[in-house]
Amino acid sequence: MPHVDTHCPYCALQCGMRLDGTSVGPREFPVNAGGLCQKGWTSGALLRAGDRLSTPLVRRGGQLRPASWDEALDLVADRLAGLRRDHGADAVAVFGGGGLTNEKAYQLGKFARVALGTSNIDYNGRFCMSSAAAAGLRAFGVDRGMPFPVTDLAGADVVLLAGANPAETMPPFMQHLRGADLIVVDPRRTPTAEQASLHLAPAPGTDLALALGILHAVVAEGQLEKSFVDLRTGGFDEAWRIAATWWPERVERVTGVAAADQRRAAELLAQAGNAYVLTARGTEQHTTGTATVGAWINLALALGLPGRAGSGYGCLTGQGNGQGGREHGQKADQLPGYRRIDDPAAREHVARVWGVPPESLPGPGRSATELLDALGQDEGPKALLVFGSNVVVSAPRSQRVQDRLSTLDLLVVADFVLSETAALADVVFPVTQWAEEDGTLTNLEGRILLRRKALDPPPGVRTDLALLCGLATRLGQPAERFPTVAETVFDELRAASKGGAADYSGVSYARLRSGEALHWPVPAEDHAGTPRMFLDRFAHPDGRARFVAVDHGGPAEPPDAEFPLQATTGRVLQHYQSGAQTRRIAELTAVVPEAFVEVHPDTAARSGLADGERAVVRSRRGETFAKVRCVASMRPDLVFLPFHFPGSARANLLTNPALDPVSRMPEFKVCAVSLSKADA
Ligand code: SF4
Repeated sequence: MPHVDTHCPYCALQCGMRLDGTSVGPREFPVNAGGLCQKGWTSGALLRAGDRLSTPLVRRGGQLRPASWDEALDLVADRLAGLRRDHGADAVAVFGGGGLTNEKAYQLGKFARVALGTSNIDYNGRFCMSSAAAAGLRAFGVDRGMPFPVTDLAGADVVLLAGANPAETMPPFMQHLRGADLIVVDPRRTPTAEQASLHLAPAPGTDLALALGILHAVVAEGQLEKSFVDLRTGGFDEAWRIAATWWPERVERVTGVAAADQRRAAELLAQAGNAYVLTARGTEQHTTGTATVGAWINLALALGLPGRAGSGYGCLTGQGNGQGGREHGQKADQLPGYRRIDDPAAREHVARVWGVPPESLPGPGRSATELLDALGQDEGPKALLVFGSNVVVSAPRSQRVQDRLSTLDLLVVADFVLSETAALADVVFPVTQWAEEDGTLTNLEGRILLRRKALDPPPGVRTDLALLCGLATRLGQPAERFPTVAETVFDELRAASKGGAADYSGVSYARLRSGEALHWPVPAEDHAGTPRMFLDRFAHPDGRARFVAVDHGGPAEPPDAEFPLQATTGRVLQHYQSGAQTRRIAELTAVVPEAFVEVHPDTAARSGLADGERAVVRSRRGETFAKVRCVASMRPDLVFLPFHFPGSARANLLTNPALDPVSRMPEFKVCAVSLSKADA
């Protein structure tokens, strides 16, 4: 094959790249403008992974052994049919991923609701983006992470980044911020914070209070954009009633951020010609995540930023298809087109596209954490099918998740390598990876992209779409309901999304192949797409955005005498998510080969630890082992662990599965821990 212009397999920036066989090179594309990070540059090695699966595996006598596709498909279909017959449709659960293409996410939702009839489908985006999605929906009436193109940021005078570390997680993004003063809100002095004009380092779990303090300063200093608030928003008075009680000196006592710095942030934002407020996982992965993102949106609304050309609020989505992955029906509460599953009109529309009676569609199911926790329990699912996810490493309280998986009657995993979750399965299906198939993704700015096939998969490997068709037909579905060609699935997705918030009906593979930049909604084939949303009106019926009254609550698990420190988790430049991909790339593991724990030198010394020694970090849920990295800029009350590593080095052995009541997102970003020296 000649070279192919395509996109990176990893994060939501979806940098444009050129593939020549398995050789990766950059190409001009607006979000990366020729740049790639180290993960992108080395991603061709994934296509040459030495431990690539090329045949289905079936567990026999305790061992995973090669089997034919027919044998494995027959076995799984028989077991699923038996479980459904004996225990009802909800006895089978499906778990998807934010890295799956739009077509796979769509087909997975249809497979669960139509072929299995189960309500139990959710995905790992619940761990990643759901709080920002819920807050965006509440404030604006629709959730598109960035309602403007990334390139607009180049015109900003000031950008506030709350809980976002793009200098490490998506380095090519930083070129768009070159002209701006950065205000970075993060308890750690990250590589992004290093570039800030103002770094605000609140105590972990207190950034909602900090947002209230900055809003208070904006209003107290007479910087409220009153005409915007009056004309284009509602709910300010209720939100202000709470923010009025959070004057900066009070906020300083809770967050540790000096009142003068809060006022400086307010002043910088208010005096900027063009300004943006951007949030990411640091604000979201809390039991107060939706409220915290809401507090940052309130600040942006008070400054009149959203819906103004050259300014705005946006969320930096994490996973490659984090945006599209939450629009097409793999969420427990959702149907394609970003429709609610409990909306009768939505059920009617989608059922018509699927050719089934609306009353046959199940209702809302369990969210990801609740679904995993119910596995194998009374009334819980007895079988789980996992696509594009490695929950044994990525889910909170991960040993409990692993234990739950072991109680299942049937665990089926589709992956291209034997991930830590696949290694526990009863049946593993070897499926294609990014450059071996066509498919669309929707990047962090709501732009729909065609990730093109660049090379053939190894013999024995099939697409996820072919796998779903193989199972669906064995479960009695007509083959034409589960097409295996991505473009055919996309054409059906277009029809299913028509009239929904995320309307793709005017997008076609032909338009994407021609290079058109199409940001949803695209409601007709002659519609140019919507790169900038909200310029005239927000998506609520009255056209106004909503302030939401939110108050500081703090983390679910404060430190105490037994667990006196707080732990936070996150990513490093060289690794991605559970590490199932990046831990297989020698250039990346050469830089970051193993788990580490970042600690202030004084905290390490108090625990009898020195730089480079092995530590054990304990929480109420378990213990994990990591090498100590002494970092002078760390807060003495905080330790940081990357979550990319498996086994006894899993950061998620510690994390707290307590959920945000609105988004059902777990509190990955803060839990109480102790630190000590590991035994030799
Ligand atoms: Fe890939 Fe993201 Fe790196 Fe770009 S920034 S090369 S999309 S991992």
